[in-house]
Amino acid sequence: MAGAACQEVRSTCPYCGTGCGVLLRPDGAGGLAVHGDPDHPANRGRLCSKGLALGETLGLEGRLLAPRVKGQETDWDTALDLVAARFRQAVEQHGPDSIGFYLSGQMLTEDYYVANKLMKGFLGSANIDTNSRLCMASTVAGHKRAFGTDTVPGTYADLEEADLIVLVGSNLAWCHPVLYQRILAARENRGTRLVVIDPRRTASCDQADMHLKLRAGSDVALFNYLLAALRAGGALDAEYLRHVNGLGEALDAAYAADAAVTGLEGSEIAAFCELWMRAEKVVTIFSQGVNQSTSGTDKVNAILNCHLATGRIGKPGCGPFSVTGQPNAMGGREVGGLANMLACHMDLENSRHRAAVQEFWGAPAMPERAGLKAVDLFRAAGDGRLKALWIIHTNPAVTMPEADAVSAAIKTCEFTVVSDVTAATDTARLADVLLPAAAWAEKDGTVTNSDRTISRQRAALPPPGEARPDWDILADAGRRMGWGAAFDYQSPAQIFREHAALSGLAGNFGLDFDISGLSGLSDSDYEGLRPVRWPVSRSRQGGRFFADGQFFHPDRKARMLPVRCRPPAASQDRQYPFRLNTGRIRDQWHTMTRTGKAPRLSAHLAEPFADIHPEDARRLGVQPADLLRLSSPHGQAILRARITADVQPGDLFAPIHWTGETAPSARIDTLVAAATDPVSGQPESKAAVVAAERWQAAWYGFAVSCRPMAPRTDYWAMTRTKTGYRAELAGSPPLGDAEAAARALFAMPDAELQMMTDSSRGITRLALCRDGRVQAALFTAPEPVAVSRDYLAGLPGTCASGILTGVPAADQPDPGPLVCACFSVGASTILQAIETGGLLSVADVGAALQAGTNCGSCRSDIAALLARAAVPHAAE
Ligand code: SF4
Repeated sequence: MAGAACQEVRSTCPYCGTGCGVLLRPDGAGGLAVHGDPDHPANRGRLCSKGLALGETLGLEGRLLAPRVKGQETDWDTALDLVAARFRQAVEQHGPDSIGFYLSGQMLTEDYYVANKLMKGFLGSANIDTNSRLCMASTVAGHKRAFGTDTVPGTYADLEEADLIVLVGSNLAWCHPVLYQRILAARENRGTRLVVIDPRRTASCDQADMHLKLRAGSDVALFNYLLAALRAGGALDAEYLRHVNGLGEALDAAYAADAAVTGLEGSEIAAFCELWMRAEKVVTIFSQGVNQSTSGTDKVNAILNCHLATGRIGKPGCGPFSVTGQPNAMGGREVGGLANMLACHMDLENSRHRAAVQEFWGAPAMPERAGLKAVDLFRAAGDGRLKALWIIHTNPAVTMPEADAVSAAIKTCEFTVVSDVTAATDTARLADVLLPAAAWAEKDGTVTNSDRTISRQRAALPPPGEARPDWDILADAGRRMGWGAAFDYQSPAQIFREHAALSGLAGNFGLDFDISGLSGLSDSDYEGLRPVRWPVSRSRQGGRFFADGQFFHPDRKARMLPVRCRPPAASQDRQYPFRLNTGRIRDQWHTMTRTGKAPRLSAHLAEPFADIHPEDARRLGVQPADLLRLSSPHGQAILRARITADVQPGDLFAPIHWTGETAPSARIDTLVAAATDPVSGQPESKAAVVAAERWQAAWYGFAVSCRPMAPRTDYWAMTRTKTGYRAELAGSPPLGDAEAAARALFAMPDAELQMMTDSSRGITRLALCRDGRVQAALFTAPEPVAVSRDYLAGLPGTCASGILTGVPAADQPDPGPLVCACFSVGASTILQAIETGGLLSVADVGAALQAGTNCGSCRSDIAALLARAAVPHAAE
């Protein structure tokens, strides 16, 4: 790899399903310079703040470098012999249903393929599921019901040709920023109209023509109303409907819909229907707000019904469009990495499909029924039905609903293997065997993005220590289990060829996923493979699905489904009166094992929070910066309150990213009930019921340090900074001896102390120094601490003599809270530039400071600062 030190490597961003191409240039010292690939069709050179910061997420800190058994480092032979023996033993003694794999949409297609083949074809179990179950299983189920297979009909180019784009349950501006920027560019060029349907006001609403703030879970009622209005308005496409069954039943259900349950004004709904009806080309983008619901599959079909009935599908600028959360959720679907799928969109419960795959693999045993989906898989681990469980690149002890119960289940399971990059996750801590896996920049393979484009991910760095690619670990385990020939893989290219050849069987059955045209790639062809959208069969490349009205049900017709609105599963009562919506924030990814390493990504929202409406805050006596305690029948959480009308009265929103490593009291999925959609098995992560109250701490604190801290208090949240770490703290018992507490927190028993106390106000400020340089500082008060956090976060390691004031001197700049992560521009810098430069628009701010000129996801924050500067007293 040394020879490759200066060579640019073309690869793919490992975060969201947009699937942006990146150019990686190794610096020869373990680092990478990262740029957007101008030739990649998904992003054409653009990257969002997360993609741009990829180079800051590398490094060996926390890396798992050797296999471990019961916490002791060992060699690969010992670890994998044990894994192979325990899985074989479980199958022999308790049957194939006694084992389980839980995978991740972060895995490459080749990794996924080997895992699925090993589990379904050789171990004989379908108990293989993935965190994609939490992400888009409802879309898979909805597609299969309507189209006969899991086909995403649209492409990103459709976003540039649509007259109207409807975002349903998707904060695209933050979660798929590059796609959102493509939409805004189209809006600029051709006046595309934009509607956002979301109970919460998000950054995606800033540029929207209309925001329908519907009640959580009422999407089916809205789209049923739309379907009835389309019929009444004469907007159905009789010609296209010749290819569609079920119109009458779907309309009967639509006529029965009560639009009042949406909570929207009749005029708002009418305006939306009018917009839809008048737009010749409509794309409906939907994401987790649709999928993560106990009626997620019905919501998907309610959307698909409207597109099928109007023929707004299979044409440029038209179609329903599910955007996936993870980089390779689509690849996982293609290999059949879910418990109810086979491979290449073939059906596990179809005996002809099963027999064909069994013959292709030379498999000794194939399950005939669907296996346990994620929620049931962990229930089985907890009640002793599972004897061996292998978790790969995911952190279910944090991310599954009822996370405390899942954590206990993993601990209970007789034998748990975790393959990961780091041992410092809530799940890895529970494993019997830890296997060191290669990380994103060290792996070779392919991923498929939301518009079916297969891209190569290429290794730019060597794996450190003993780390190995997942396909290699899984294949080695398969060989040790006794299936040497079936798992004799030498490279990801070999696996890809096999996967592509298998897809030819799907093509022979008349299914959509056929990439058999790629099965003859040589190793060098594979190495040089350019992004390509499937299908790529021997007779067909690309093209548009459903343009010819041909679908994948046996009669080749699509199906409209009669769907009726059902409220979220858990009903609110006096004890749990709030609806909790969970989701992502702009600059973090999943459980922050990577993005949490980049200081600039942690600077945007450095602490877990819950958004609460001003009326609810007033009723509960919650003031700005207070802490909130949330409780549900399944757990508790403490979070910082953000009082905002972005959420509706009775609703709360909290992010999903914090873990036992970063803020133990903010593991939000401890609160969420494991209620699932009856068709897809996807949990309802957007509408848990909770109680909320102000949490009164005896003391609050803010700390900075040049090294990790060891907080032991009721509430803490720690993040990276450029100079070390920062933490928010609070405790219910009094702090007591502040100096002793600080020395324990910072593990600095003998550093020099500077201290200032104001006993009348209960304030203590202290700094620990060495050789005149600040090592750490702690500020405590009986109420939330008022100091300049962004200024203090930059002081560890410096000679800041005035640190105990907590604010910068008049001649020192204070950038304020980070707004633009791409160019590291803070709110104070922007406000000052607005004031001194007379800036009037987001574009003016961009021209002056670059802020907002890259990924664009901070433009709404800049607009808010401009508004604040224009009416300074309103902000006070
Ligand atoms: S939009 Fe951002 S996170 Fe998503 S793939 Fe592109 S660069 Fe990565």
